[in-house]
Amino acid sequence: MSDTTHPAASTLLRRFWTDYLHVHRGPMLGAFLLMTAEGSTLALISWMLKPLFDRVFVGKEAGAIWWVGGAIMGIFLLRAVTLIASRSLLSRISLGISTTMQRDLLAHIMTLDGRFFQANPPGAMIERIQGDTIAVQGVWANLITSATRDAISLVMLFAVAVSIDPEWTLAALIGAPILILPAAFVQRYIRRKVRQNRANASARATRLDEVMHGIASIKLNRAEEGQTRRFAAIVARIRQSEVKVAAMSSLVPALTDIVTGIGFVAVLALGGREVMEGTRSIGDFMSFFTALALAFQPMRRLGGLAGTWQTAAASLERVYQVIDTQPRIRSGARMQPPDSTDIRLEDVWLSYDGKPVLQGLSFSAEAGRTTALVGPSGAGKSTVFNLLTRMVDPDRGRITLGGVPVQDFDLGVLRDQFSTVAQDSALFDETLRDNILMGRPDADDAALRCAMEAAHVSDFVSAMPNGLDSAAGPRGSALSGGQRQRIGIARAILRDAPVLLLDEATSALDTASERLVQAALESLSQGRTTLVIAHRLSTIRNADKIVVMEQGRVVEEGSHAQLMAQNGAYARLVALQFGEIQ
Ligand code: ADP
Repeated sequence: MSDTTHPAASTLLRRFWTDYLHVHRGPMLGAFLLMTAEGSTLALISWMLKPLFDRVFVGKEAGAIWWVGGAIMGIFLLRAVTLIASRSLLSRISLGISTTMQRDLLAHIMTLDGRFFQANPPGAMIERIQGDTIAVQGVWANLITSATRDAISLVMLFAVAVSIDPEWTLAALIGAPILILPAAFVQRYIRRKVRQNRANASARATRLDEVMHGIASIKLNRAEEGQTRRFAAIVARIRQSEVKVAAMSSLVPALTDIVTGIGFVAVLALGGREVMEGTRSIGDFMSFFTALALAFQPMRRLGGLAGTWQTAAASLERVYQVIDTQPRIRSGARMQPPDSTDIRLEDVWLSYDGKPVLQGLSFSAEAGRTTALVGPSGAGKSTVFNLLTRMVDPDRGRITLGGVPVQDFDLGVLRDQFSTVAQDSALFDETLRDNILMGRPDADDAALRCAMEAAHVSDFVSAMPNGLDSAAGPRGSALSGGQRQRIGIARAILRDAPVLLLDEATSALDTASERLVQAALESLSQGRTTLVIAHRLSTIRNADKIVVMEQGRVVEEGSHAQLMAQNGAYARLVALQFGEIQ
């Protein structure tokens, strides 16, 4: 990747200002003033050394000890107070920025479609939301502190220096031009390295995510060592480039040391003689030298700022990459639900990365009826569900609900028309109650109980120690496959949407509860438009219409009896899948 494809740091900063900093400009001004006060204290201290030497030590004015001492104490008190106030204000601002950024990123990522998630694994996205925003936040606090407090310290200390002797000041700065070239080079280098580092951090998060989710198969296949090796290789890369960044980041501060050393010698050569000759006082010289010595740390930190800023820029760039990714699935404008729930697909084509999945698929599902989709695995049955709910849009063709193209609906309105029960209902590590209520958060207790009864969830929930308030475990792992499905069914029942999309939800249930859930699903689908990806012969037989799919096309359509009579693809499928039981 060449540098030209990356936005300039100044462009990023301008955007960052408009999007995230601008709202904090009041508190930022407050922090700036506090840091100005804090920054000036160093200059005040060096300033106080002149009376300390000239009036106390040389002039031997006893009274001066007290007011000089009092003034110095006062300066340190001011430093302490401004330190606390400015740090707490700054952390409020920087945390405000990073949390807003995290919220915006998550909200935006959730608007993106399946293709995005296919290309960006969960771990990498988690790293962007957490790692990158925190990198921006940490660096930002650092940046604002150095840039304001240290810059102000430096300006004030130089003002003190100039007020004592402009010539000495020039002499002190004699080595400064050495810094210019390396600073420019270091910036570019660090930006590139940090960018690599952030990409490696994403790879690390992705590996961790995959390992944690696949822990059972890793153990069963005894793949622990291989996984550890892969992980070690990634962290080794991170370590290498982090070390390089650290070394490079200290290049400018290190050069600052050398420049300061040259300045010291130059001032000593020039000023030392003047003091010996008696043209300048010791107080002048001590004050000047102290100002120079105190300028040393802020100067070093400011020298390191270029690298720090590039670190933030690399993360900001990654945050904006996500924010600038536009969802391909855009919401339509229609807010009214359709008048009917007739579903029609006409000549629908879809391919994933050039691989055809649907090839001119056409069929209809009549409102209030049950339509079964059957066919070999990979025929495109689940894809039909994804198209109807617009998880993905077709390359070509027309999909309508109640005669209205699905693209015309507001996405929320469209998805409200569907209750989906997938083979593996996604459960979250929340209570069972929350998992069911996800279908309709505002449902009352009576509706919840009804749905639980109908889905035969009550049977096992009452046996659990905390009942409905038991946790489902990460991804529902505290429940058996059948229990998870029943929770999914209860959620769909509660959702009570006009169209039901079932992916043969009963496959993981034992025979007894399968019959019960089947009955629940049948009553649920009564009067509802139901599309079912069917694997069980009884479901298929009971359907009003059977659509047989193969390689993304409809090969046969009709009732069980009609299709059996045709003795074609369906009859072969039934013979193959269900053997004698016809
Ligand atoms: P079925 O439900 O009939 O088993 P699917 O609709 O799940 O089939 O999948 C049809 C084809 O589309 C399969 O070959 C599958 O590999 C492919 N496919 C589905 N989703 C994606 C995706 N997100 N990316 C790439 N290929 C996909």
